[in-house]
Amino acid sequence: MAKERLLEIRNLRTSFFTHVGEVKAVDDVSIYIDRGETLGIVGESGSGKSVAMLSTMGLLSENGRVVSGEILFSGRNLAQLGEREMESVRGSEIGMIFQDPMTSLNPVFTIGGQITETLVKHRKLPKTEAKRRALEILASVMIPSPDRRINQYPHEFSGGMRQRVMIAIAICCDPDLLIADEPTTALDVTIQAQILELMKELKSRLGTSIILITHDLGVVAGMCDRVNVMYAGRIAESGTVRDIFRRPRHPYTLGLLKSVPNPNRMQKERLVPIKGHPPDLLKPPAGCAFAARCTYAMKICVNARPPVFDVAEGHQSACFLNHPDAPSVSM
Ligand code: SF4
Repeated sequence: MAKERLLEIRNLRTSFFTHVGEVKAVDDVSIYIDRGETLGIVGESGSGKSVAMLSTMGLLSENGRVVSGEILFSGRNLAQLGEREMESVRGSEIGMIFQDPMTSLNPVFTIGGQITETLVKHRKLPKTEAKRRALEILASVMIPSPDRRINQYPHEFSGGMRQRVMIAIAICCDPDLLIADEPTTALDVTIQAQILELMKELKSRLGTSIILITHDLGVVAGMCDRVNVMYAGRIAESGTVRDIFRRPRHPYTLGLLKSVPNPNRMQKERLVPIKGHPPDLLKPPAGCAFAARCTYAMKICVNARPPVFDVAEGHQSACFLNHPDAPSVSM
């Protein structure tokens, strides 16, 4: 069956303008997701993964701006829409779940009030119908006793239950795309597994596409079809989950894989952290942003930015080692 492109971000550049200069948080990034797919975006803090998605949602802080590029969704370039138009896209066509539901839920309104408000605003439902629908949605995200819980406030819910409520708000208008930014990072492991299972179940039932932002490769392996690995505001490598985990073609991806335990390997293995720190994006390096930390760095890496190489169908890497004249190394 032909794949239908749902969102396509082309050559996005997003900067923050601070009193000490321009921080190039996202620098020429292209990302896409097809209908029905789950896409993982992984990378360290500050790699630009959240900023790319906040740019998509029009939720940048005051000093942030999309400098150039296109964000194509349902025949529109979201980068050019005004705040009013973006408000109708958010919640209605694209839902977003954040890491900490306490900062996203309004503490002075009941859970039911917050869901019905979204339904009245975006779906134009009468209040009684919105309340009936809110009860259905709370049940669908496995909130026990929804008819009692609907009248409670966020502080009366546990962390895992609050995240379920966030998911309920994000999906209540049947969005085509759900963006989940580290949705389980603040939760303990068993609750984390329950939330991921819930997202998988919702995806198969509703057909919602999901962009999952995470630094957890285990979550990516269990949830995603494709992965984009980001480093210092750029895409280092992209491919299917199989490509990225079995045939990584960028030293940064390799470093990420070596720094986390692999339960599939029977022998004991040492975890190897990636030494050093990401570069200062106020003064990004002229060459490859990973050069200072890369064991394979060559002279060219310091002077020139690596282009994106197609290493296989649907698998790209921005690393000079993929140039036909580069020395052969085993990764
Ligand atoms: Fe390492 Fe050079 Fe590849 Fe950058 S381009 S990841 S420095 S080998």
